[in-house]
Amino acid sequence: MVNRIKTLPPQFQKILKTTSSLADSAAIKIYLVGGIVRDLILKRAVFDLDIVVEGDAIELAHRLSEKIKGRFSKHHAFGTAVVYFGEHKIDLATARTESYSCNGALPKVTPASLKEDLIRRDFTINAMAISLNKDSYGYLIDLYGGLEDLKNKSLKIMHDKSFLDDPTRILRAIRFEQRFGFNIEQDTYRLMKEAINTKALQLVNPHRLRDEIILILQEQKPYLCLVRINSLEGFNFIDKNIRLDKNSFRLFLDIGKAIGHYKKKYKNHRKLKAWVIYLAAILLKLPSEKIKRILNNFAFKRGERIIITSIKSGLYPLKKLNKKLKMSVIYKTLNPYSFESILFFYAYYHRQKQLRKNLDCFLDQLIHIRLKLKGRDLKKMNFKPLNSYGKVLTKLFYYKIDEGFKSKRDEIRTLKRLFRKAISSSDKSN
Ligand code: ATP
Ligand code: MG
Repeated sequence: MVNRIKTLPPQFQKILKTTSSLADSAAIKIYLVGGIVRDLILKRAVFDLDIVVEGDAIELAHRLSEKIKGRFSKHHAFGTAVVYFGEHKIDLATARTESYSCNGALPKVTPASLKEDLIRRDFTINAMAISLNKDSYGYLIDLYGGLEDLKNKSLKIMHDKSFLDDPTRILRAIRFEQRFGFNIEQDTYRLMKEAINTKALQLVNPHRLRDEIILILQEQKPYLCLVRINSLEGFNFIDKNIRLDKNSFRLFLDIGKAIGHYKKKYKNHRKLKAWVIYLAAILLKLPSEKIKRILNNFAFKRGERIIITSIKSGLYPLKKLNKKLKMSVIYKTLNPYSFESILFFYAYYHRQKQLRKNLDCFLDQLIHIRLKLKGRDLKKMNFKPLNSYGKVLTKLFYYKIDEGFKSKRDEIRTLKRLFRKAISSSDKSN
């Protein structure tokens, strides 16, 4: 495995070496664990590091953050800490076992050794470790047959009660099955179906469910997971009125295409929260009030809730964009929406050619247009009243996009025209 660690980017290797020597000098054993070990063996890209410490992880993380002058945060109740380096992070956790107070609740944590820490994990392929102490650096620890299962592309739980202890593992199984193209091992599949039949997922704390929902929707191809969830479990764990049909799945595919289109074409735009677009599609047919209740119940963030509710309420009014319109009308209609909402509309209205053209026009051209004149220019020109600048500039902006002029001189000329109009109409009304 030493060779595998050597395939990591240099900054990862460096931080592992530093952590290793800090652990050695404190005589503590540390291990790389979980998904990252799996991904190293599968030769997949690795983003963050997970380390288990047979000792005080918070203390070690604290020393590491001092050594590399990195940011550090800790969670005493869980005995975990995170150290940030560059754009990445390294999670350090005190080796632990868990006892469950009741199905689906957060585990209570008590210190234990690596072996016990690994057995509490979801699947054998995620329950391997790599030693990081100097005398055994890079040595693979595979106590539960993870390597064999990885080679056989087999997803296997650690013990029979696994899905009942933590039903979110049902969703995790589907996620890994679809991501890696693995098979859920026979007994695991049977136990998973049994857990599904007892409606185990519906007992899970909504915040934990939310985190798993987000992870599924962040997959490279959420479509595959959604199809599988729909046939195995359904979406009762979100709301019992969710029914997905052929059109819903068509929409998921079109959303995937719209996101791909956006990422390819608009490389410099803001990074998307693409998963929110899929969630909006899952909830779409429910009444608005119900959607709001669900979003609150799962404690989605305010910005995420706004995107989804504005998609729901904007869907029908937006139909009016399916004809040739003045640029300023397109701008006024779409400006209140986030990129995520616009991509949703792009996918939803994929057959409405003119509507799509207008969305493209907004993203391609309109959002880049800025006025050259600013409020201070108006002030210099002695325009009055001062409190009308905002309105005047907005009006000028609409003229600019409709008439397509570019120079500052054009803006000034139009501004004067607007101003004369305003004065003459106020004269008439006096
Ligand atoms: P990904 O590549 O999606 O990040 P991962 O396997 O790294 O997959 P994480 O959610 O990052 O998954 O969790 C890291 C590790 O923690 C897992 O590999 C697994 O060992 C353990 N783990 C996470 N969630 C659970 C769970 N619900 N039950 C048991 N073990 C879990
Ligand atoms: Mg991970």
